[in-house]
Amino acid sequence: MARLVLNQITRAFGDVTAVDRISLDIADGDFLVLLGPSGCGKTTLLRMIAGLLDPTGGSIELDGTDITGMPARKRDLAMVFQSYALYPHLSVAKNLAFPLKVRGASKQEITSRVLAAAESVDIAHLLERKPKELSGGQRQRVAVARALVREPRAFLMDEPLSNLDAKLRTATRQELAALHRTLGATFVYVTHDQVEAMTMATKIALLNAGRLEQYGTPEELYDTPSSIFAAGFLGSPAMNLLDATLTTADGSIAIFAPGVEALLWKGASPDRDIVVGIRPEHLSVHDGADAAAVPTAGAALRGTVDLVENLGREQLVHCRIGDERVTVSCDRAETWRAGDLVVLAAPAARVHLFDRASGRRLE
Ligand code: ATP
Repeated sequence: MARLVLNQITRAFGDVTAVDRISLDIADGDFLVLLGPSGCGKTTLLRMIAGLLDPTGGSIELDGTDITGMPARKRDLAMVFQSYALYPHLSVAKNLAFPLKVRGASKQEITSRVLAAAESVDIAHLLERKPKELSGGQRQRVAVARALVREPRAFLMDEPLSNLDAKLRTATRQELAALHRTLGATFVYVTHDQVEAMTMATKIALLNAGRLEQYGTPEELYDTPSSIFAAGFLGSPAMNLLDATLTTADGSIAIFAPGVEALLWKGASPDRDIVVGIRPEHLSVHDGADAAAVPTAGAALRGTVDLVENLGREQLVHCRIGDERVTVSCDRAETWRAGDLVVLAAPAARVHLFDRASGRRLE
């Protein structure tokens, strides 16, 4: 069991508040990803959970026990670092045995647990090698195995894949997700990579300048971003964000923005500056000269094609709508060219509205 509860956890370094009153309830068995841009406080938060850094405010509970001031070695949490932190002069077997030796485990127990951990990440054939005789991916597995061998209550990982090349990162990502499913243990994983977060997490905590921006499943964050920041951070290519004004018309709400032809919405309060968000995959491209081809419901943006990029599987059609740039991802079978007059359409259910001043989502 490892349920971690953070209550208003805060860490200041002089004038800089690296982590600002973050509260999170991490359920036993969750794969929680701490996600956010460089400097948003992810590593500082993870180090406080690990016990490597004291908070300047708030508290941390592990299975109902307050562990805020408890030394790292007593917490029974295993940390896997980006740099692997392996002992270079020791063989893989000895690197794995080290945490057990420190604890005074018997020789027999050490041998069997080292072998079991090595087998679970497929490095049993490398046990006699030194770290320098391993590839980056193999070293990363040794680091994970060294955490496994301790049978900790939870695994804490700080960008463990960032030193791997793109292909290996994808493979290792899948292995880590499988390992999490097999172990059923709690993982807390730091990354700035939204793909890692989307593919591995059961829950994402999105951080922005030390604050918790949004906490939920990957689907919740992607489908219902709670702020402009969250909308722009998740998704590649990024969500299109357009400045607009919300005004009442005929009992419904109309949104007026340069190039926006007809965008109707119900339920939001009128007369305010907003930001309209539409993901590239939710827009479709229509011939602007053919009125019959343009859907009449939802959003319609009239503009010109600027550039078409072929990505192999799909194409990105970059358009100019008034002063704004809007990107659509669509099937390569469509034959749009730079200079084409087009209308971009999206169903109303796929249009996100945010208050421009506060940045928060309008329901
Ligand atoms: P990255 O993805 O770049 O590692 P991060 O999200 O992990 O970033 P942190 O390393 O937690 O961010 O840093 C958060 C903020 O706290 C940054 O502004 C950083 O400069 C500051 N900070 C972190 N550690 C210290 C320290 N020991 N002394 C002073 N400021 C620090």
